[in-house]
Amino acid sequence: MTSIFDSIRFPSGEDGKPIYKMLIDGEWRESSSLKTITVHDPFDGSVVGRVQKATKEDAEAAIDAAFKAKKSMADMSAYERSKILDRIADLIEDNRDEFIDVIVAEAGKPRSLAEGEVTGTVERFRFAAEETKAIVGEVVKGDNAPWHQNKIAMVMRQPLGVVMAICPFNYPLLIGTAKIAPALAAGNAVVAKPASDDPIVLFMLAKAIEEAGMPKGVFNIVSGSGSEIGDLLFSNDKIDMVSFTGSSSVGQHGAKVAGMKKIQMELGGKCPAIVLDDADIDTVVKECMAGSFKFSGQRCDALSRILIHEKIADKFVSRIKKEVAKLKMGDPRDASTSQGPLINKWAVETVVELVEDARKKGAKVLCGGKRGEGLFYEPTVLDKVTSDMRIAWEETFGPVMTIIRVKDYEEAIELANRSQYGLDSSIFTNDVDKAVDAGKRLESGTVQINGAPAHGFGNIPFGGDKESGIGREGVRTNIENMTKRHSIVFNPRYKG
Ligand code: NAP
Ligand code: MG
Repeated sequence: MTSIFDSIRFPSGEDGKPIYKMLIDGEWRESSSLKTITVHDPFDGSVVGRVQKATKEDAEAAIDAAFKAKKSMADMSAYERSKILDRIADLIEDNRDEFIDVIVAEAGKPRSLAEGEVTGTVERFRFAAEETKAIVGEVVKGDNAPWHQNKIAMVMRQPLGVVMAICPFNYPLLIGTAKIAPALAAGNAVVAKPASDDPIVLFMLAKAIEEAGMPKGVFNIVSGSGSEIGDLLFSNDKIDMVSFTGSSSVGQHGAKVAGMKKIQMELGGKCPAIVLDDADIDTVVKECMAGSFKFSGQRCDALSRILIHEKIADKFVSRIKKEVAKLKMGDPRDASTSQGPLINKWAVETVVELVEDARKKGAKVLCGGKRGEGLFYEPTVLDKVTSDMRIAWEETFGPVMTIIRVKDYEEAIELANRSQYGLDSSIFTNDVDKAVDAGKRLESGTVQINGAPAHGFGNIPFGGDKESGIGREGVRTNIENMTKRHSIVFNPRYKG
């Protein structure tokens, strides 16, 4: 069977698995070093394929191409940009199964979640296509000062120029899209860099962008080791904005080397769920299960601290134990699998270390607490976690529900806000006054009332405070971030 992606890959001599090329300046190229990165299926360790290992020269060529193309992109009409974005969505839909299969294989993501990721991606491109046509400026009168009563400014919205999109492994298609779709909608040229663990699906998106009619050089993609080419991707002067999603440590380093350019940082989280004693227990159980265990907890917005009122903690725990028993570890391709593997051995090591530390300091392991075969870690519930344990504060990024019992609402708020992170938080209660109070006081970009973190198709602004980042994403929000205001001021001399 032929596929639109055949032209961007060729079979490897080693084992016949595909090697993907990079899109630089309208050409699908190999790395100048001819080195590749092997992409493994985290489920069984088999080779999914290979991608190029870009050198600094390759990354520079991609940035130069975007820099050269930014003028033609800025001149493209909103009508044309919108049509191209819609065509990208069509092409993803036409090749939906292949996108899903690749996410399942390279990220180890259970199939239903990979399906959701592809649907969310299509919807974001469609939303960006609509928003492209809604970019408007403003007219400002100068009459707030007595000496320029007559002035009138026409404030236009212009693209920034070149946007660098650095992407994490956990939503290998969707998070790239959260940056790329609004960047193109706003009229920017783009360079994208996928995570080395699961980069292939973003090359497929690149092909869809090319096929949809994007002019040469406007969209470029390079794969390579973040530690080797990363500083260049942050610091190159031809880049106007870096939109980065990944760990807080890499983000903080990137912010230091970025220099005079706009930065957007979507970083780590340690999201709390406050559960008060009047909460609807069915909702709490359902939402906390999804919040803690979806994609095996490999989500920045995972609920990884359940701050529960001691009066209802026992009831919650007994319900949770029954729910966790229903989770099924296995091949992410099987429809019955809810828990796939973790992304790599370092991810497993982090979970092992954090659970061991908690166990040694007296946490109660209600279930799990062990690694499985390969890159699996059993779904785990830790009860009676206390503030001296690392897992109360450090990002786990694994399938662990961490239960911290609290005596009252104020203690819960204090513990929630003591974190260095501030991405999302949830509160479960039927007391509307407390819900509103928590909504105002919780130090995070989003507060969910009676729900686990979820952010729609990019219409609800999303992002973190403190070490969780700088700025907010979302289609409209990012079009705002990725445009600048440009004022043309009229100074009329004639006044009749
Ligand atoms: P990561 O290890 O920080 O990597 C993210 C990206 O940065 C990858 O493309 C990586 O490339 C690249 N990179 C690594 N070192 C770099 C450097 N020195 N300079 C520039 N780029 C560099 O994060 P991850 O493990 O993929 O993702 C998990 C993390 O992302 C978690 O902390 C999670 O909370 C966070 N996250 C946040 C959000 C949010 O919206 N706030 C969403 C999703 C995930 P290589 O793969 O080649 O190293
Ligand atoms: Mg990583």
